[in-house]
Amino acid sequence: MGAEPRVIDAHTHAFSHDLLRDRTLVAERDYWFGELYRNPAAKAVDAETVGLSTREAGFDGAVICGFPWSDEGRCRSENAWLAEATGSDPQLAWLGIVVPGHPDAARDAAWCLERGASGIGELNADGQGVSLLDADAWAPLIEVAKAFARPLLLHASEAPGHQYPGKGTATPDKLVQWLEGAQEIDVVLAHWGGGLPFYELMPEVHRLTRRVHYDSAASTYLYRFDVFPRVIDLVGADRVVFGTDYPLLKQAGFLRRTRAVLRTDDEAEQVFAGTAERLYRFETKGSA
Ligand SMILES: [Zn+2]
Repeated sequence: MGAEPRVIDAHTHAFSHDLLRDRTLVAERDYWFGELYRNPAAKAVDAETVGLSTREAGFDGAVICGFPWSDEGRCRSENAWLAEATGSDPQLAWLGIVVPGHPDAARDAAWCLERGASGIGELNADGQGVSLLDADAWAPLIEVAKAFARPLLLHASEAPGHQYPGKGTATPDKLVQWLEGAQEIDVVLAHWGGGLPFYELMPEVHRLTRRVHYDSAASTYLYRFDVFPRVIDLVGADRVVFGTDYPLLKQAGFLRRTRAVLRTDDEAEQVFAGTAERLYRFETKGSA
């Protein structure tokens, strides 16, 4: 492959300084945060650290995703901090977070999108106590995404395989049912959609996935790296989004291993930057 590709890390996480200070207390109160961050060895960082790491890795930008809080008030305060913390760094974009099914979810999502959020996520049915099959809980949020023409990012996971903190039960069977109600918006399914790309070979599934994209967050812990060319062959490079889940995984090493398995400059252009730029309307130097 030729020139260095532009690179956006479309899946990172960061927390406000208040939250990092109260980490132990929050881990006791928020079940999902506790699952992931009760262990003091689990790395949690602020937005400045994401910006620094992104530049050190030589990337052109990063998307900081919201954490799936179960409390709408905490979603609100972390959203306000994310809007502020990313405002002065043109290399950082952010996603707002709300609790699907909460009476204020649609209003709070609109608040985020009016203040520059590139989308809403990483929504998490297990962490936020809502069923993917409860269409009424999701409909108002999907309406807001449609009105603003912004994507929703959902956590997804594999039905088979090893258990790990934060795995959850957002498996392809449920995601396909959820997608029936989300046909008019762009959707990003994290962690390769829990294996959904394979089921796109079924016509009735493919019919529902026209606007679905898959990110590679945490891939190292889940799949061999040749998951990249395999999924590209199933769905096309224009529906694959490079994301690391930093700080869970280090950015530079993830990039190196991904570059080694991509086959053409066009694949690299789409996966590392093109798909994310279109989806999140993220502008970097050199984007069209
Ligand atoms: Zn996730």
